[in-house]
Amino acid sequence: MSPDIHPTDLGAPLEPLPGHASRGRLERVLRRGEFAVTAELNPPDSANPQDVYDRAAVFDGWVDGINAVDASGANCHMSSVGICALLTRMGYAPIMQIACRDKNRIAIQGDVLGASAMGVQNILCLTGDGVQAGDQPGAKPVFDLDSMSLLETVRTMRDEAKFLSGRKLTSPPNVFLGAAINPFAPPYDFRPYRLAKKIAAGAQFVQSQYCFDVPMFRDYMAKVRDLGLHEKCFILVGVGPLASAKTARWIRSNVPGIHIPDSIIARLEGAQDQKREGKQLCIDVINEVKEIQGVSGIHVMAYRQEEYVAEIVHESGVLKGRKPWKHEPNPTDATVSERLEEIRQGKEENQQDMADIAASKPH
Ligand SMILES: Cc1cc2nc3c(=O)[nH]c(=O)nc-3n(C[C@H](O)[C@H](O)[C@H](O)COP(=O)(O)OP(=O)(O)OC[C@H]3O[C@@H](n4cnc5c(N)ncnc54)[C@H](O)[C@@H]3O)c2cc1C
Repeated sequence: MSPDIHPTDLGAPLEPLPGHASRGRLERVLRRGEFAVTAELNPPDSANPQDVYDRAAVFDGWVDGINAVDASGANCHMSSVGICALLTRMGYAPIMQIACRDKNRIAIQGDVLGASAMGVQNILCLTGDGVQAGDQPGAKPVFDLDSMSLLETVRTMRDEAKFLSGRKLTSPPNVFLGAAINPFAPPYDFRPYRLAKKIAAGAQFVQSQYCFDVPMFRDYMAKVRDLGLHEKCFILVGVGPLASAKTARWIRSNVPGIHIPDSIIARLEGAQDQKREGKQLCIDVINEVKEIQGVSGIHVMAYRQEEYVAEIVHESGVLKGRKPWKHEPNPTDATVSERLEEIRQGKEENQQDMADIAASKPH
């Protein structure tokens, strides 16, 4: 049996390992030196759990962790806490994203404890997009913490077993801590130092903004290696398929922090089937970045094209035959349904007993 599966309960945290902050699969894969794959789940605008299960199922057997976004772009969707509750229930390994835009330190520390209690092993700490980016720009922004102070807060909770106030925790949240990086936004020289600060604040892994400019990323990684940061933190490169040249142009003009060079748009424009070309382009980027020293994995953000994630991962060959965890019916499912059946039958028997008693009573 794979060491990344609990021997008796697929949904349970794994046995602790020395030198590991969490009991999750993502940290194990990275610390074993395997090339990790994570993917972003498109959060539903719905209260139906099946929507989350269906969206997670397309990643089955292809990813080591599923990111549950926290109102990215400052647009409201099902919460990251809610998505993580559903994913852990099914045995998936979520990466819970926390943005500081909508909650203060009291609410966030409570969410961290709740998430850890539900089995969340990974937390990605973000400042978050400003409210003006979303479809409710009149919302009140909180930003009590930012990504750095959030990293420090969760690390303090985990390593010192206390809240920011100093009050003791009886059971700390043993989570693997992450942050976001954007090597593609100016000021470029400052970006590796910002990563260094995030590592100093507690980041053990980072996931980058979309990489469409490999030479620019190569330069960034050269500076990261000069600073020795790739030895202190696992770096996962953000990748994703572009659906068309028109989509690429729209993203470039409307989504802050995403850099798409003209050459990429020209390649898509020149293709007969732009969607297929977008997918191939993503695979080509993966094949280049996986060879860069200090890169530990990829983070696939295939917004509204999640069905291609399996193909992209397969065709890029990054897993080298390794098979990440795949959801299968939990053995306890059968036990639960047996118990329900017992209760239902017991109820029927009780009802029959009561009917017999009623029938035997003198009127
Ligand atoms: C992998 C990934 C996942 C993300 N998920 C979410 C999410 O779930 N929810 C959400 O709200 N946002 C999300 N974002 C967007 C992210 O929060 C913003 O891009 C943010 O500006 C930079 O990341 P950060 O939050 O770690 O901010 P930090 O690195 O802490 O930056 C803090 C501040 O620096 C400034 N800054 C940083 N980058 C830029 C830039 N490119 N241009 C101008 N100013 C900048 C901003 O003022 C920002 O508030 C995600 C980004 C990435 C890469």
